[in-house]
Amino acid sequence: AKDAGGSRYELADPDSDARAIDRHSLTTRLPAALEWDEFFLEYQPLIRMSDGHVEGAEALVRWKHPVHGRLGPDRFIPLAEHTGLIVPLGRWVMEQAVRQACAWHEERGKGGGNGKKKNGKNGDALAERPLRVNVNLSPRQLHHPDLVPDTIAVLEAAGMPPSSLCLEVTESALIGADEDELKPLRQLAELGVEIALDDFGTGYSNLANLRRLPATTLKLDRSFTQGLQQHPADPVDVTFVEGIVTLAHALGLAVTVEGVETEHQAAQLRDMGCDTAQGWYYARPGPASTFVQGFAVT
Ligand code: C2E
Ligand code: CA
Ligand code: CA
Ligand code: CA
Repeated sequence: AKDAGGSRYELADPDSDARAIDRHSLTTRLPAALEWDEFFLEYQPLIRMSDGHVEGAEALVRWKHPVHGRLGPDRFIPLAEHTGLIVPLGRWVMEQAVRQACAWHEERGKGGGNGKKKNGKNGDALAERPLRVNVNLSPRQLHHPDLVPDTIAVLEAAGMPPSSLCLEVTESALIGADEDELKPLRQLAELGVEIALDDFGTGYSNLANLRRLPATTLKLDRSFTQGLQQHPADPVDVTFVEGIVTLAHALGLAVTVEGVETEHQAAQLRDMGCDTAQGWYYARPGPASTFVQGFAVT
């Protein structure tokens, strides 16, 4: 079943067909790629379901390979994780993303397009509350001693508040983590950094475990969103999502849903009480520049 899921994912991957590309050559090329700026980020908006307001965006890394063209993260993140290059790469991603959040913040702070800071009824609120940027953390970064100081340094360098950053950690990366291993995330959460449990529902964590994780958000895996798309919706998925939303809210956690591709899914998920949504229905991942234009019309 695992293999079937994997190949389905590959068929859906819009990035260049890298199955034929030798993993070894990609792996050995990774350090130079970082040095030569071949990585770039795309951003996908996160939408508050209650009113359609853009809360922030998830940063997603891509590789512009000089020979193979654009490669998606599923092609090289596992390799970088394996060699350890994910640590400097992940730091680069975080730095870029937080800088971008700062740039958006300044862009918005200019207000309504005519240079005045205090025009319009919600100009001030928008200027004061920076857009959040979500950054994926791999297990290796999570266990690296520099995670906390690096994160603080990145925020301080950009002059951004901790709440403008959300670190996404997969549920499976935290399975079995003891209190010592959770400490860095807990420290960051105490500083005000948001922590999202990514791909939630695909791991095997028991729900009681949830209480001791320093998470602020559950990010429901795309597979549940897909179940809702069927007519009629898969009743198991409906029950699951409703149950998770109830539980999450009882624990003070927000719920984000990913992979929302249709209006039908969006309406259902909103009615089920999900807080934030992400998916092609709203926007595909894209360059930061198009994103800013998107905000201007919101
Ligand atoms: P993820 O964190 O679960 O990210 C969501 C993935 O779903 C992204 O794929 C995104 O493009 C895709 N997606 C968004 N909306 C939809 C939709 O409506 N339908 C469908 N079918 N897909 C949608 P992407 O960009 O290929 O990233 C794949 C994975 O690579 C990410 O999964 C994440 O685990 C990893 N990744 C991406 N960037 C980074 C990074 O900077 N660091 C680390 N450690 N991992 C990263
Ligand atoms: Ca993610
Ligand atoms: Ca995810
Ligand atoms: Ca995923």
